[in-house]
Amino acid sequence: MIPAHRSFRRLKRLISIEQVLAHRGLLGRCRRQRDSLVGPCPIHHGDNPRAFVVSRSKNLWRCFTACDAGGDLVELVRRLDQCSYSQVADYLSSLAREPLRIVVPIEPTHAPTKPFSPFRRRLPLDPEADLLRHKQIRPHTARRFETGRYHGRGFLRDAIGVRLHDPQANPIGYAARRLDPQQIRRYGKWKFPPRLPKNQLLYNFHRVRTRHPQALVIVECPWGVMRLHQIAIPAVALLGTHLAPAQHQLIRPLRIILMMDADPAGKKAASRICRQMHAHPDLSVASIPDGLDPDELTDDQLAASLRHLLF
Ligand SMILES: [Zn+2]
Repeated sequence: MIPAHRSFRRLKRLISIEQVLAHRGLLGRCRRQRDSLVGPCPIHHGDNPRAFVVSRSKNLWRCFTACDAGGDLVELVRRLDQCSYSQVADYLSSLAREPLRIVVPIEPTHAPTKPFSPFRRRLPLDPEADLLRHKQIRPHTARRFETGRYHGRGFLRDAIGVRLHDPQANPIGYAARRLDPQQIRRYGKWKFPPRLPKNQLLYNFHRVRTRHPQALVIVECPWGVMRLHQIAIPAVALLGTHLAPAQHQLIRPLRIILMMDADPAGKKAASRICRQMHAHPDLSVASIPDGLDPDELTDDQLAASLRHLLF
């Protein structure tokens, strides 16, 4: 019998990570970027399309989000199947015996989906964070919204945490606003818990619903909600630029004022959402100075852009 490590060396030469992904119908979820394959992580079943990166020349992979881990072909199969090294060897040997098929991207298949598991614990957050000061969010507001700099390790490391709740007010974990410019360039500003059902949530909805407001402002991100709260205007955030049907359902009976960022993405989103909500009885769009986000305005500017729509 060939010792496992020697046979692994041979198998790694024979089989590519790409082949394993194709074999499992996972390749269609990845995009090719020069030498890399980039896609959602098949190990933790996240939905961030840039989480999982494969170097095709090196035959190595890495998940930059929830797993925060990487390795070779063997390690990948071991994590995908949560199996032993000898089972990995069996699987790879059988794959090596298969005739090499032309690798065509396959339609996304439904990967075995684990349900979203909400994180209920409360983490200590520092409301005196520079970013919050910069966004003119007062410590009192930050405490109320359970947001602030996290000084520990784990999901919120080097980030500002923002506590999330479902529409029934159950805490379900934290969104992380990254602070490291390099990380932001690579992965974007926000990180969400794996499998968070974002399209069924509106940030802050659980707080405003109990107050039965007549009108509600929709913004893109939590900072806008907190800024509007400081001038006593109820708001929810999409946590992005898309309005899903389930989100629309939550706010259907209310007067809605859309206040997206005044950048190209925000403007495009605003007209898309207006089209989606064309049947909504009372929808208006707040205009804010070009190039700015709601959280970049002064309180007076915020109030001025909404006053005529609210009253
Ligand atoms: Zn992962």
